[in-house]
Amino acid sequence: MAGKVVAALSDRALELGPAAHVSKGRWEHWRLATSQTGVAWLLLDRADTRTNTLNDKVLVELNSILEDLEVSKPKGLVIRSAKTSGFAYGADVNDLATMTDPPEIEARISEANGVFDRLAALPVTKVAVIHGQCLGGGLELALCCDWRIAIAGTKLGFPEVLLGLHPGLGGAARSTHLIDPIQAMTMMLTGKAADARKAKRLGLVDAVTEERHVAAAVADGLAGKLRRNRPGTLSHAFALRPARSVAARKMRAETAKKARQAHYPAPYALIDLWEAHGGSRKAMHKAEAASFGKLLQTDTSRNLVRAYFLREALKKNAGEQRDFAHVHVVGAGTMGGEIAAWCAWQGLRVTLGDVDVKPIGAALARARELYDKIGKDDAATRDALDRLIPDTKGYGIAHADIVIEAVPEKLDLKQKIYAGLEAGMKKDAVLATNTSSIPLDRLSKGLKRPARFIGLHFFNPVSRMQLVEVVSHDKASADALAAGSAFVGRISRLPAPVRSAPGFLVNRALMPYLVEALTLVDEGEKAETVDEVAERFGMPMGPIELADQVGLDICVEVADVLRDGLDQSIPSTPDWLRKKVADGELGRKSGQGLYAWKDGKPSKSSPSVHHADETTDRLILPLLNACVACLREGVVADTETLDGAMIFGTGFAPFRGGPMHYARTRGTGDIKVTLKRLAERYGERFTPDPGWDDLT
Ligand code: NAD
Repeated sequence: MAGKVVAALSDRALELGPAAHVSKGRWEHWRLATSQTGVAWLLLDRADTRTNTLNDKVLVELNSILEDLEVSKPKGLVIRSAKTSGFAYGADVNDLATMTDPPEIEARISEANGVFDRLAALPVTKVAVIHGQCLGGGLELALCCDWRIAIAGTKLGFPEVLLGLHPGLGGAARSTHLIDPIQAMTMMLTGKAADARKAKRLGLVDAVTEERHVAAAVADGLAGKLRRNRPGTLSHAFALRPARSVAARKMRAETAKKARQAHYPAPYALIDLWEAHGGSRKAMHKAEAASFGKLLQTDTSRNLVRAYFLREALKKNAGEQRDFAHVHVVGAGTMGGEIAAWCAWQGLRVTLGDVDVKPIGAALARARELYDKIGKDDAATRDALDRLIPDTKGYGIAHADIVIEAVPEKLDLKQKIYAGLEAGMKKDAVLATNTSSIPLDRLSKGLKRPARFIGLHFFNPVSRMQLVEVVSHDKASADALAAGSAFVGRISRLPAPVRSAPGFLVNRALMPYLVEALTLVDEGEKAETVDEVAERFGMPMGPIELADQVGLDICVEVADVLRDGLDQSIPSTPDWLRKKVADGELGRKSGQGLYAWKDGKPSKSSPSVHHADETTDRLILPLLNACVACLREGVVADTETLDGAMIFGTGFAPFRGGPMHYARTRGTGDIKVTLKRLAERYGERFTPDPGWDDLT
């Protein structure tokens, strides 16, 4: 694409002439050329990165280019990107992370807005040609142009909310005045990108075309011949404050369903901004920059930026790309079916085996449902289903680069299956288990090639949970582990290396939290109250609801394994809970657990929260204590991997930056004292782990 873009610049159709030379000139990150008809073509091409993002240097250079263009007065200006990946991904997150000093933040936002305003005011017709990703600041840059031409397949969006922000370079003011403000607000509040066709319908872009027709589309843009879809007349009503207030109330209610204001202030700030200033673009623009500056200084934004980097670090664990053509999955139940479906969706050929045909049929039906939900077109669904092959006879085993076992959590059953698998597998293929709790040293006993055996611990549902624990054990080879991590990266999940120990990292940390929640219920606390307290802390779902989601049978099983396998005093499972499991009340999957479930939702009554602080500590501190134990024992290498794994494996309050970040922010001394107090009051399960003393 980059080649094509530069080639397009020297295309005769663009009147640059075959000899036209597109040079970087004085600028590191931009290239500027003028066509024979006097139109300036400006290409964004960050010198130091593979993708375009906007940072101070890029904007300083743009400012100086604009200064020149104000003098040279070209017949028009076309802005596009020379990168394959797209137009621009938005602000450089590395830069955001360095902005801490309030006066400096204000000055930098003001300067950046000054550059964009200068572009918008340049008295020539400006056309943005957009391909690939056009996000955040990239879209705000395009919005300063008079016309936007998108190459088919382009994605446009405002993902700022995911970093605890809203647009701050005029994106909010410009978009709400260009298109239907409700649509613009929805894009900004959800962070969801629109594809080029939708953007055209909304009026966010003015033409959608193929690369080969760009020259013609640009000529139309420069001649003012493009036709913009205007918002309906109803949207004019939002120029009036009462209409905006009604819409804003609805937006707040919708937002509140997803995020609490105390945890995620950005969407609420955006709604306030639009309600108060949406009648005037200029006023809104000014207020937008000020509000953006305030949000940048919130802990939420800083911690979400941290979560962004934690995610990037986990991605890097995937290492060098490797070839995986074929995966064989053994066990087509809840997990095996999901893993197989996800791998096929990610383009791999998958054979799916089971002792029984029924679960395979059910897994294929679930795969179709999943593809219909996440996919856009029938062709993608059909292709993925073609790649997902039922295989009761295990023909795929001999061809697989990786075999994933997901049969019930029984040591002898798994070991028996491995004996059969190993005999049929390629010598260098990886055998991976999805066990949630059985130590790999035990599972690997009797294997002929224990070096090729690893754990790949997926979370349920695989399509939504991004983390996969890549589990090592004493005999696993470095190559098999690297292959496991590369495989996880290949299927667009985040690999977190952990060492085999009961529960690995995520379940080990989660289980004391779930068990404590059940203990609270056992003591007479309402399930709803326990859930509410956890959600107030910032967990995406309360522990009781989570236990029902996971399945009470699985929770009891994992708690038993942890209790047996660790020198830790996890309270014994109450008899009433074991009876529930024995009676088949397993949670969501059986329709009844600690809650009654209907249409995938638990029916809940109102919570009655009294001692929120102590209840929060009783739930969260055992989780932190287990995390510290994992660090001390080397189950996980460092606090960054730990925080990333807990955020992306359990949804641990992302705006708190991860459990260890939370511990540091609150003060490890305070946590230790609180744990000691809880231990005196409720039992030794709260005794602080010795690892707290090693944390600074
Ligand atoms: P499941 O009971 O839903 O599915 C297991 C499947 O294995 C069934 O379809 C069964 O017919 C099949 N099976 C049994 N014996 C077999 C054999 N000899 N050969 C081939 N197939 C056989 O179980 P699940 O919940 O999918 O769990 C599978 C594994 O994944 C377990 O080790 C579990 O601990 C782990 N795990 C589960 C979850 C979860 O949330 N359910 C999450 C992470 C990991």
